[in-house]
Amino acid sequence: MNEVVKNLVKLYHEDKLSHAYLLATNNIEECLKDLKIAIKQINCSDNFQENCQKCNICNLINQNFLPSLIIIEPDGKGIKKEQILELKRKFSTKPIYTEENIYIIKNAEVLNAASANTMLKFLEEPEDNIIGFFITNNVNNVINTIKSRCEVLNVFYDVHELNIEVIDNDENKAYLEVARNYIKKIEVEKNMGIMYNKSELLNIYSEREDIKKVFKILVIIYEELLKYKLKLNNLFNKLDMNYLEFLSYKDVLHRINLLNKFLDDLSNNANIELLLDKFVIDLEMSS
Ligand SMILES: [Zn+2]
Repeated sequence: MNEVVKNLVKLYHEDKLSHAYLLATNNIEECLKDLKIAIKQINCSDNFQENCQKCNICNLINQNFLPSLIIIEPDGKGIKKEQILELKRKFSTKPIYTEENIYIIKNAEVLNAASANTMLKFLEEPEDNIIGFFITNNVNNVINTIKSRCEVLNVFYDVHELNIEVIDNDENKAYLEVARNYIKKIEVEKNMGIMYNKSELLNIYSEREDIKKVFKILVIIYEELLKYKLKLNNLFNKLDMNYLEFLSYKDVLHRINLLNKFLDDLSNNANIELLLDKFVIDLEMSS
């Protein structure tokens, strides 16, 4: 969960929450997901766990049925005035199950002047029991009427967040292919050592961010191999890289350490070619 969103829960309990926030994010869906978790955490009638199934309130939030939580998304191109009027109507009474009425406006950048003006009452005469969240991935396009009345928070998600589930999706599969070829060369064919850095990596990617992504995928591959060796799960099989099975548990752990060290150094702006050579040499020395 994003730290900034997590902190909202703390602020709530300290009674320091503002009545309106503009969450500027690079990932609207993740941000909405985290925000809903935070709202559950605030209102859960049980001891909140990430996947609370026990309490009525969390269940209602999961199904988008909690009357005091309204999420408004663009209907077609924009957010219509009627959507805001309906929100006003629903929030004209005090909440029943929760302390506050909470609304979330997704893609706040598409709110036009008419819809924004309809919201002003919420924003200018903050009722004690209404909290609003505006989520946007384009804060510069959010109309000033809204922006100036909200506390703006930056909710940033690591765009390189990867895991085994998404490793072969459209966005990542080219990187996975490069990672796969590279690993086969340095682990199995071996004879050309550091030359593979050029032929398998640098001839394809020259940007630091691209190399970083390939190496993050390498970490995932070895982590899955490790889980496979520990018989925790079988996801490694889906990668079709059984030629790595000869590596021992200890070998795999060592490789994960080398890769993480590489990624650290890469973030510290060290020379990419030197780092890659060092990585291959360290790897060879250990096998
Ligand atoms: Zn709950």
